[in-house]
Amino acid sequence: MTEDPSIRATLHVHRERADRRVTSLSRELDEIVESAQLANVDDEHDPDGSTIAYERAKTTALLAAARRDLDAIDVALRAADASTYGTCTSCGRPIDPERLDALPATTTCVTCAAR
Ligand SMILES: [Zn+2]
Repeated sequence: MTEDPSIRATLHVHRERADRRVTSLSRELDEIVESAQLANVDDEHDPDGSTIAYERAKTTALLAAARRDLDAIDVALRAADASTYGTCTSCGRPIDPERLDALPATTTCVTCAAR
């Protein structure tokens, strides 16, 4: 696999974006929790409570996804450092460059990802 210095730059851009998403979603989640406490709503019986519960669940899920993205990008950056970037961690075959363009943080080829 040929060394491509732009890979690392691309990954850093993605990392920054994911990092900002984690930060803003954490803040959003804090605000939801805070407003729920301020309103002192009962999640189970108050109609507003169920909206807040829904918002909280949705934001929690988005935050978890953003954190997973961030982890994946860190793994890809380590792979770039070790010159194993672009190699499937599952089967060891090279990952399709088009797939890497679309998903720079991916560590598996399309065949293994589909499994
Ligand atoms: Zn594979």
